[in-house]
Amino acid sequence: MIFSGRIGPGRGRVGGFMDYDIVIIGGSLSGASTAILLRRECPGLRVLVVERSAKFGRRVGEATVEISGFFLGRVLGLAGFLNESQLIKQGMRFWFANEQTQSLSDSSEIGPRYHVRLPSWQLDRSVVDEEVLRRAVEAGAELRRPAQVTAVELAAGGEQVVTLREADASTTVRCRWVVDASGFAALLARQQGWWRQNLEHPTASAWARWQGVKDWDGRALAEKFPDWANACYGSRNTATNHIVGDGWWSWWIPLKGGDVSVGVVFDQRIANFPSGEMSVGERLKEFLSRHPVGAELLSNATLVDGDTHWRKNLPYSTTQFAGDGFVLVGDAAAFLDPLYSPGMDWISFTVTASVALIVAEQRGDPIDSLIEKHNNDFSKSYQRWFQAIYKDKYEYVGEFDLMRLAFLMDLGLYYLGVVSQPFKFGAQSLRVPPFSLNVASPVFYFMRAYNRRFASMARERRRRSQWGRANNARRYLFQSFSLSPKDLPRILGAATQWAWLELTEGWRSWR
Ligand SMILES: Cc1cc2nc3c(=O)[nH]c(=O)nc-3n(C[C@H](O)[C@H](O)[C@H](O)COP(=O)(O)OP(=O)(O)OC[C@H]3O[C@@H](n4cnc5c(N)ncnc54)[C@H](O)[C@@H]3O)c2cc1C
Repeated sequence: MIFSGRIGPGRGRVGGFMDYDIVIIGGSLSGASTAILLRRECPGLRVLVVERSAKFGRRVGEATVEISGFFLGRVLGLAGFLNESQLIKQGMRFWFANEQTQSLSDSSEIGPRYHVRLPSWQLDRSVVDEEVLRRAVEAGAELRRPAQVTAVELAAGGEQVVTLREADASTTVRCRWVVDASGFAALLARQQGWWRQNLEHPTASAWARWQGVKDWDGRALAEKFPDWANACYGSRNTATNHIVGDGWWSWWIPLKGGDVSVGVVFDQRIANFPSGEMSVGERLKEFLSRHPVGAELLSNATLVDGDTHWRKNLPYSTTQFAGDGFVLVGDAAAFLDPLYSPGMDWISFTVTASVALIVAEQRGDPIDSLIEKHNNDFSKSYQRWFQAIYKDKYEYVGEFDLMRLAFLMDLGLYYLGVVSQPFKFGAQSLRVPPFSLNVASPVFYFMRAYNRRFASMARERRRRSQWGRANNARRYLFQSFSLSPKDLPRILGAATQWAWLELTEGWRSWR
């Protein structure tokens, strides 16, 4: 839908003259895509994007999944650009080990045998975000860069006042809407006291880019482990590979040009990341090399200078996602967990719904009830998404058999209930975040139930010194999911295996 019937340049419903209709704080993926969609929906809107950095550096958030792939490829129209300048991703793979595991070929594996069916990409965000911002400017947004928003004064239904600093000068601009796309800085949520750390999920992460990481599809590994190489028919190298252990997992994401992004995420209650005098990069290498697959892959690898990072206590949320005059998108609104790469899915939903809200107001629709619904939907989605998939997940993320079942159900239900929606019903489905509709409640309760049970079983295994007993020399290579209901039996099959596991083992932790 294209809406161009604005009230007049710089004139909101409040009647006064404003400098802009919309000011967007942050010009990275969330901010720039909001600008593109706003200008597409309302070509008359005067949109200002304020971006702090003069040039984007590399950042985490490199693996897309099916929803973010849809958003980038089809909604933003970047498919051609991504196919030419980035790597096409081939799903997710997991690598498990226990004390019997000697080498890469013994490590238990979960992943697709062939290539996947829907598009997604491995991104160098410094390149992609630059392109999205360039397209936002091309679409008519004004850009101030480098410029930093230092304060925002909100006035419900009125004029928002944004103070920004460029070089050494401070200016204020007035607008009808502020979009906070400032990422982890979460400027509005922190300034207004809405920001909440998620204390139930104390995860931390260290990451770096590397050169010389072994190629999963290369001759060196194929000659060393021929049976291992022949077992998989697709590309392992362009998958997001996950090397996992007790209470932690790591991502291995290849970037166009040969560098590899490798990082570890761990639950601080379970895993011990090395502390001490060594640099973060050296500690990361030491930690990952304890796993036989990590040791193999990193044996000749070196860190890219100045590109190692560390962040503690990853998840957080906000108590307000929108009001009459502001919206929060992407990481400025909340962050869950990097496992399964939901970050850019969250961007897809928050941006689409926020644009719809602003467009409704500009059209003159009464928006109080829309704002209330927006806040309820995103708050419910965050909570349910967390409880269904992530809460205590790190208890069992390193257990091959438990993760195999969880992964089949997590992924199968994601395809069935979430991914299918925009592909079948169009981009407007992205206005509805996962788990926010009542119809999704049974699925939420089901997912929360198996997630809780697997966490309990893993705790019990650890207590009985049986952690990781199925982690050696198993390989589960499957056909990746499709959007057909014919895949439902696979999900039911996994649920049946869960029931069997309860009878044979789970009873130990029923109390
Ligand atoms: C360890 C880890 C791994 C992850 N892996 C993945 C993954 O594989 N896949 C995935 O989808 N997601 C992943 N994510 C999440 C992903 O990184 C984020 O969801 C995504 O980068 C958020 O984009 P954004 O545009 O909202 O914010 P950002 O990319 O953080 O951009 C915010 C922008 O705002 C600007 N800014 C900030 N403050 C101001 C200010 N005051 N004035 C002006 N400009 C300002 C900044 O310069 C920046 O450009 C991961 C996150 C973590 C922590």
